Amino acid sequence: MADDGLYVSVGPSPVRIERALFAAYWSYAQTFGVFIDRFEVPVRKDFEALMERQQYDFRRLTASEVKDVGRNDPCPCESGRKFKQCHEGRPLAGAQL
Ligand SMILES: [Zn+2]
Repeated sequence: MADDGLYVSVGPSPVRIERALFAAYWSYAQTFGVFIDRFEVPVRKDFEALMERQQYDFRRLTASEVKDVGRNDPCPCESGRKFKQCHEGRPLAGAQL
């Protein structure tokens, strides 16, 4: 974002919004886990693997983290995916959406 002078923001900061979204996601995942256990749905392991993978989608990388990363390098978010299949092109930490 270009610095064009005075900037006023009303409401929670983007960092807090991300944390709240992550908390909501986590709460949903736990609730769904209880549902799976209660009805003995045989997908618990697949579900946990999916939830763990999706956790990385909430991570916002900083400009310095992505500075020297090539498209085929492992993503700095530690998801295990290539950068081009993961965080390339996503908004960086602190970016205004
Ligand atoms: Zn990533």
